[in-house]
Amino acid sequence: AAFALALFPIIEPFLEISQGASEWPVYQQSIERVNALSNDQPKKVPQSALKGPVTEINVDHVTFSYPDDDRLILKNVSLKIKQGEKIALLGPSGAGKSTLLKLLLGDQTPTKGTVTINGTPINELQQKRAQLFGVLDQQPYLFNTTVMNNVRLGNLQATDEQVKTAIEAVELKPLIDSLPDGYETEVQESGTRFSGGERQRLSLARILLQDAPIIILDEPTVSLDPITERHLLDTVFKVLHDKTIIWVTHHLAGVDHVDQVRFLENGVFDLQGTPQALYRDEPRFRKLYALDAGRND
Ligand code: ATP
Repeated sequence: AAFALALFPIIEPFLEISQGASEWPVYQQSIERVNALSNDQPKKVPQSALKGPVTEINVDHVTFSYPDDDRLILKNVSLKIKQGEKIALLGPSGAGKSTLLKLLLGDQTPTKGTVTINGTPINELQQKRAQLFGVLDQQPYLFNTTVMNNVRLGNLQATDEQVKTAIEAVELKPLIDSLPDGYETEVQESGTRFSGGERQRLSLARILLQDAPIIILDEPTVSLDPITERHLLDTVFKVLHDKTIIWVTHHLAGVDHVDQVRFLENGVFDLQGTPQALYRDEPRFRKLYALDAGRND
């Protein structure tokens, strides 16, 4: 939730503009403004362009306190993520998971240590956030325009065919085809005509078009029932199989999809390993796993 709030200033002006926007050109203009805004904070450090594809994200001995607050939220945390690797980040409320995401996105800088992509600190990269990160969080942003336009927000250059292919990949085609206006169906901002799982799928289609190398999943299934959650996670990991994924989650449903699990507690990684090794070696993990398996029955 903290993370969604951090993004709100970027989206807010667009929300205002979109209230009365029924014409696509107006809509497009507002997106351009959003994109301009998402260059957000003026960067005070020298910028360099990332050369070549993202190969590694490195959180290297990071210690972090919020400004004007002495508490250490992260204490000497290290995490290396290779291209295409999938990591689940677990931990109790207040453990520092959202804070770690803010550091990964460059919204905060470490008090000590570094967060780098291919060796360059995140805040020194010239690339815009949207070129590096796709984000699926608890509440997808849907706008007062058509299904087609909502999904195209991921890439304004995408053709109708590409938008349709993305919608098909996230398994929404049968639903959209069944609506009287099909792809031209108006999605109200609250998205109320779609279920929570369908709204997440629309957002996932948008992320597919965006095609950023790193995907942040910030508890995207938190408001879904266990069956819908499982189906959505199956789709997410299928369609994003070649992406680097960092997934913040409160429980273990779907954790078999990832390569590495990290438990954050009191600002340090307390348990870490593959889900299989943790299941074998850690009674605490087995207990949590059994609890979450029970949720799905
Ligand atoms: P949850 O699962 O509840 O979202 P979390 O693991 O994501 O929790 P964080 O949101 O990272 O935890 O919070 C870690 C600690 O940092 C908490 O004690 C929180 O109060 C504190 N914190 C978060 N944002 C700020 C801020 N902007 N200024 C000061 N302290 C903050």
